[in-house]
Amino acid sequence: MNQEFTVAKFGGTSVADHAAMNRCADIIASDPQVRIVVVSASAGVTNHLVALCQTGLSSEERQAHIDGVIAIQLNILECLSLDADLAHGFDVTLNDFKNTALHAAQTNAQRDELLSFGERLSSYLFTQVLRDKGVRSARFDVRSVLKTDSQFGKAQPEIAQTKARATAELVPLLSEQVVVTQGFIGSDEYGETTTLGRGGSDYSAALLAEACGASNIHIWTDVIGIYSTDPRLCNKAKPIAHLTFDEAAEMATFGAKVLHPATILPAARSGIGVFVGSSQDPQGGGTWIEKVPSKELITGVRAVTQRKNQLLLTLKSPEMLLASGFLARVFTILSEYKISVDLVTTSEISVAVTLDNAPNASRPELDQEALERLAEFCHVSVETNLALVALIGSEIQLRQSELNLMRVLSGFDIRLICHGASKHNLCFLVEQSQSDRVVQAIHQQLLEQGR
Ligand code: ASP
Ligand code: MG
Repeated sequence: MNQEFTVAKFGGTSVADHAAMNRCADIIASDPQVRIVVVSASAGVTNHLVALCQTGLSSEERQAHIDGVIAIQLNILECLSLDADLAHGFDVTLNDFKNTALHAAQTNAQRDELLSFGERLSSYLFTQVLRDKGVRSARFDVRSVLKTDSQFGKAQPEIAQTKARATAELVPLLSEQVVVTQGFIGSDEYGETTTLGRGGSDYSAALLAEACGASNIHIWTDVIGIYSTDPRLCNKAKPIAHLTFDEAAEMATFGAKVLHPATILPAARSGIGVFVGSSQDPQGGGTWIEKVPSKELITGVRAVTQRKNQLLLTLKSPEMLLASGFLARVFTILSEYKISVDLVTTSEISVAVTLDNAPNASRPELDQEALERLAEFCHVSVETNLALVALIGSEIQLRQSELNLMRVLSGFDIRLICHGASKHNLCFLVEQSQSDRVVQAIHQQLLEQGR
């Protein structure tokens, strides 16, 4: 492609049913720059698939989840008449799903295969909806280009290979038609299906945009962009028109649910602009995330986010003298088990780290085996029911307004505070039962005073 083009990604609620898909197709039909469309599974499907991955389901429970997936597909299919090429692929895939889902997955590879059906099915249906709008389009199996390692459940992309494959197999198709493909899934070097982790379709869109040389990524979701905090929690939350890559990455990492945290990486690396808007209200505005702020950089706190279900792992060395090698040993084990930590605080002989403990994750973050390895040389304590509250912005410093905040927070139990490694955040760990109120108090103190 020698003209500028856009990768548009539509999330689960945007492709939940035929009416929702239709709205997305209108967005694509009205923007000729959109050449690659990345779709999620229809809302609810991945949750059924995650449930099907659990061991110990009764056959009734298993059947109920299978029926749940099928019902969502048929509800959309009812409004469509599939072209022969799509009908064939869809039928084969749906049958394959029914057979695969009947038996409990034994391996991580089998689990990812099962998890992949949501996106594989929705992309057939979506292609037809787009064709019905008169947009010339073809469905493309992303697994042939999006190459990853074999870390099932949370696979890491192989950037160079993905670029080479996409350049050879995907880019040449774009001049002829719009290509509809799947988010969330990829394949490893043996051709086994992998997944990028829950919510990974945004990341897929960014990876494909980078691999194919797109100039923009449009993420269409169910909110008009990224807000100063969750609008369901604070009715004075405001949409943010422009964010820098750093701010957006921090917001996504620390719980603004609008974007998968890794999405910004490829975009920032390759200077691709990201727009986030609502497919239900495409004219309603949205957030532009850019490398260089188009206006003057706004400093200070711009948003407050929270991430629930955090786990605090505190590790204490029994021997003072070993304190220096201690941290190295701890982090070696965490990295061996590919455990990703977010906040870290240390004192002389102990270190506390936070991990994500999301209940519907496709893979638990903390491995029992890793805990046992750590327990060989330190006291381990695990605390749950915590939430991570983060103030996000640029050049955050502890000035008067932030210090006033401490007074507001004095009524809450703050378990841990982190600031200093980055000027983009200031983080607290609080009791989960208090976190909504903490966010409201911070938003009111820092973001509702006509700044
Ligand atoms: N369908 C996957 C999920 O629900 C990926 C995505 O929607 O981004 O996690
Ligand atoms: Mg999603």
